Amino acid sequence: MSNCLFCKIVSGEISTDFVYKDENIIAFRDINPQAPTHILIIPREHIETLNDIDQSHVELLGAMQLTASYLAKEEGIYEKGFRTVFNCNRDAGQTVFHIHLHLLGGRSMGWPPG
Ligand code: 5GP
Ligand code: ZN
Repeated sequence: MSNCLFCKIVSGEISTDFVYKDENIIAFRDINPQAPTHILIIPREHIETLNDIDQSHVELLGAMQLTASYLAKEEGIYEKGFRTVFNCNRDAGQTVFHIHLHLLGGRSMGWPPG
């Protein structure tokens, strides 16, 4: 998708410091962090929203969550706790339409989310 910000990060057109990379997934720090650790885990494949996933993406979604858990360990927030979040569409506040899993931690968080 030529106009997608996260596709440009995947292709290297926009440079970013990656914290994780494999053949299907990349991860990098959020530009506007909402917690001491705020990492975005994204698929290389362009998928606009969670509403666009199907059976063919089950393994990918599982791998994204496993990557988040791995990075939580790397960040030292695994024991104390962390949060993973997908925002889908307007009511959830999605602003970039290439799915991404937020990994947040390093501070105590409230519930319910705002
Ligand atoms: P959403 O609101 O769609 O769930 O999350 C999009 C996230 O992408 C936001 O937390 C925002 O700060 C982050 N973001 C937007 N543009 C960039 C960028 O160019 N680089 C990085 N690293 N993060 C970005
Ligand atoms: Zn994209």
